[in-house]
Amino acid sequence: MNTTVPTTALIDWISRFRDQIANRRDWLTELDSAIGDADHGANMARGMDAVVAKLAEQGSAPTADAVLKAVGMTLVSSVGGASGPLYGTFFLRMGMTAGAVTELDGPALAAALRAGLDGVIARGKAQAGDKTMLDAMIPAIDALDDRLSGGGELSEAVAAAASAAEQGRDETLPLVARKGRASYLGERSAGHLDPGAASTALLFAALSAALAAATDAA
Ligand code: ADP
Ligand code: MG
Repeated sequence: MNTTVPTTALIDWISRFRDQIANRRDWLTELDSAIGDADHGANMARGMDAVVAKLAEQGSAPTADAVLKAVGMTLVSSVGGASGPLYGTFFLRMGMTAGAVTELDGPALAAALRAGLDGVIARGKAQAGDKTMLDAMIPAIDALDDRLSGGGELSEAVAAAASAAEQGRDETLPLVARKGRASYLGERSAGHLDPGAASTALLFAALSAALAAATDAA
């Protein structure tokens, strides 16, 4: 089946991400209290609540770029801390690449996600293994591209991306942070999961759930 992702599924993704963040807010805060300043849960929850409120103001049939740019701008303006500008850049770049369309096919979704990732790298200057959100985001998007280029079905490819993000999150446990606030701890940052990698795993879990729901409905 040649699945496409309508803008409504993107909005569903964002709303599911908000819910997942709300559900795991205390856990994200706990992770950030170990190697940061204990605000990642609050930052993300505040940002995603603002995003969902912003999207509710949009008309009934916004284009993909309008949705994604609104998400990005709202995160940049409502979240203090490193994660707001980084997630904000992710969605802004995604929107620029997605363009003014009402649906994305698999390759278009993958290209938009890859552009978002490149934006996070350009903005934060981190790389794989620095114990950041990139350690979940890079394997997720690599897995998505691998599955799609192997002829995989989109919702299965996104499910593989979500698993890869969770694995990447778990693999931040032994890493020593080299970027962001956790890097101030040096070696003492090892032995804890990175909070941003944990929220990024939720981002891909939400995308997988949204696409599974859209596929079931089709
Ligand atoms: P702050 O560190 O300003 O308190 P948050 O607690 O909301 O912001 O977010 C912390 C997360 O941001 C980290 O766990 C990490 O995943 C991510 N992060 C920090 N700096 C960078 C960077 N330069 N590149 C990518 N991700 C980063
Ligand atoms: Mg923090």
